[in-house]
Amino acid sequence: MPLNLSRAISLFHPKPISRISMANISSLTTSHPTTSPPRKRLRGVVFDMDGTLTVPVIDFAAMYKTVLGEEEYRRIKAESPSGIDILKLIENWSPEKQRKAYETIADYERQGLDRLQIMPGAAELCGFLDSKKIRRGLITRNVKDAVDLFHQRFGMTFSPALSREFHPYKPDPAPLLHICSTWQVKPDEVIMIGDSLKDDVACGKRAGAFTCLLDESGRYDSPEYANVDHKPDVKVSSLTEFYSLLERHFDLEP
Ligand SMILES: [Mg+2]
Repeated sequence: MPLNLSRAISLFHPKPISRISMANISSLTTSHPTTSPPRKRLRGVVFDMDGTLTVPVIDFAAMYKTVLGEEEYRRIKAESPSGIDILKLIENWSPEKQRKAYETIADYERQGLDRLQIMPGAAELCGFLDSKKIRRGLITRNVKDAVDLFHQRFGMTFSPALSREFHPYKPDPAPLLHICSTWQVKPDEVIMIGDSLKDDVACGKRAGAFTCLLDESGRYDSPEYANVDHKPDVKVSSLTEFYSLLERHFDLEP
C-alpha cells in the first residue's frame, strides 16, 4: 500500500503539527497506485549547535535581561514573538556599550561550555549519516572557540562549521548558502535542523532548504508562535525522531 509521507510523519509524530507547514512534504509525494511515493533526495544535513547537538544549558532569557535590562527586555520581547535577536540589537550600540554587551554574552557562553553535554542521539545520528556518506555541516551564532571545544569533546567533525565570525550570521541565509556552495549541492537537497524558529528555521527557509525544528519541550506549540513568518517543514522532539524521519522518508545519497 502506498505510503503517504505527510500522513506517515503525522503518525509517528507525538504531537499534532497543525501549525507546521506540510506543504513541502506533501509536494514531494504523488499518488502512485503500485509503488511507494518518491522520496526526497538529501545530500547533506546542516545542524545548529547549542540546544541541537548539545543539551541546552545557556540561559538565554537571563543573558538578554542582563544585556538589555529588565524593562527593555520585556518591551522587546513583547514586540518579537518568535524571539530576540540579541546580536542584531547590539550591532548599532556605541562601541563601549557594545563591548560590555559582548562581554556579558561571552560570560554566559563560557558558563555554557563548562556544562557542555552532547545531545542524546547525536552520536548515533552522525554515525548513521557517516554510514550513508552524507555531509554534515554546522552553523552557530556562538563563537569559534565554542565550536572547537565542541569538536574536541564530541570527537566528530562538522565541515564546514560556521560560527559567529562568519558574517552575516543566522537568520541570514548566507551561512547555509555558503555551505551548499562549498559542498556543491543545491539548497533543496539539504535539511537544516535546529531548536530555534527565528534563527535556524528562518535561515533554512530563506536559503531554500528543507527545515526541521527540534522542539524537545513542545514550547513552540504555544499560541505565541502561531503567526511567525517562517514555519518549519517538519518538527521533531528529539534527534532520535529526526533519525527516524531521515531513514524512513528521505533518500540519502551523497
Ligand atoms: Mg540553538
